Amino acid sequence: MFSELVFVSTSRGRAAVQLGTCRFLLDGSGRGVKRRWRCVKRTYGCRSFIVTVENTLIKYSCNHNHAY
Ligand SMILES: [Zn+2]
Repeated sequence: MFSELVFVSTSRGRAAVQLGTCRFLLDGSGRGVKRRWRCVKRTYGCRSFIVTVENTLIKYSCNHNHAY
Protein backbone atom coordinates (compact mmCIF):
# COMPACT_ATOMS: atom_id res chain seq x y z
CA MET A 1 0.00 0.00 0.00
CA PHE A 2 1.26 3.44 -0.85
CA SER A 3 2.10 5.94 1.78
CA GLU A 4 0.29 9.21 1.69
CA LEU A 5 1.60 11.82 -0.70
CA VAL A 6 2.47 15.15 0.81
CA PHE A 7 3.04 17.98 -1.61
CA VAL A 8 5.70 20.37 -0.42
CA SER A 9 8.19 22.78 -1.89
CA THR A 10 11.90 23.00 -1.43
CA SER A 11 13.74 25.89 0.11
CA ARG A 12 14.42 27.04 -3.44
CA GLY A 13 10.74 27.05 -4.27
CA ARG A 14 10.73 23.93 -6.41
CA ALA A 15 7.82 21.56 -6.32
CA ALA A 16 8.48 18.41 -4.37
CA VAL A 17 6.54 15.54 -2.91
CA GLN A 18 7.13 13.58 0.23
CA LEU A 19 6.23 9.90 0.23
CA GLY A 20 6.95 8.25 3.51
CA THR A 21 10.60 8.89 4.17
CA CYS A 22 11.38 9.58 0.52
CA ARG A 23 11.32 12.96 -1.16
CA PHE A 24 10.96 13.51 -4.87
CA LEU A 25 11.45 16.55 -7.07
CA LEU A 26 9.32 17.43 -10.05
CA ASP A 27 10.99 16.21 -13.21
CA GLY A 28 10.47 18.31 -16.31
CA SER A 29 8.03 21.11 -16.91
CA GLY A 30 5.22 19.79 -14.77
CA ARG A 31 2.66 20.76 -17.38
CA GLY A 32 -0.45 18.65 -17.74
CA VAL A 33 -2.05 16.40 -15.15
CA LYS A 34 0.56 13.65 -15.40
CA ARG A 35 3.74 14.41 -13.57
CA ARG A 36 6.93 12.50 -13.05
CA TRP A 37 8.97 13.02 -9.92
CA ARG A 38 12.51 11.88 -9.40
CA CYS A 39 14.26 11.02 -6.19
CA VAL A 40 16.13 13.95 -4.68
CA LYS A 41 19.24 11.76 -4.67
CA ARG A 42 19.27 11.03 -8.37
CA THR A 43 22.46 13.04 -8.58
CA TYR A 44 23.94 10.23 -6.50
CA GLY A 45 22.74 7.64 -8.96
CA CYS A 46 19.37 6.79 -7.44
CA ARG A 47 16.89 5.77 -10.15
CA SER A 48 13.71 5.83 -8.11
CA PHE A 49 10.81 7.87 -9.38
CA ILE A 50 7.08 8.20 -9.04
CA VAL A 51 4.34 9.29 -11.42
CA THR A 52 1.24 11.15 -10.36
CA VAL A 53 -1.92 12.06 -12.21
CA GLU A 54 -4.01 14.80 -10.70
CA ASN A 55 -2.09 14.45 -7.44
CA THR A 56 -2.75 10.71 -7.23
CA LEU A 57 0.10 8.24 -7.22
CA ILE A 58 -0.12 5.86 -10.19
CA LYS A 59 3.42 4.50 -10.38
CA TYR A 60 6.12 4.00 -7.82
CA SER A 61 9.51 2.73 -8.83
CA CYS A 62 11.25 2.18 -5.53
CA ASN A 63 14.86 1.30 -6.24
CA HIS A 64 16.69 3.59 -3.91
CA ASN A 65 20.39 2.99 -3.81
CA HIS A 66 20.75 4.80 -0.54
CA ALA A 67 19.34 4.78 2.96
CA TYR A 68 17.46 7.71 4.36
ZN1 LIG B 1 16.34 7.51 -3.85
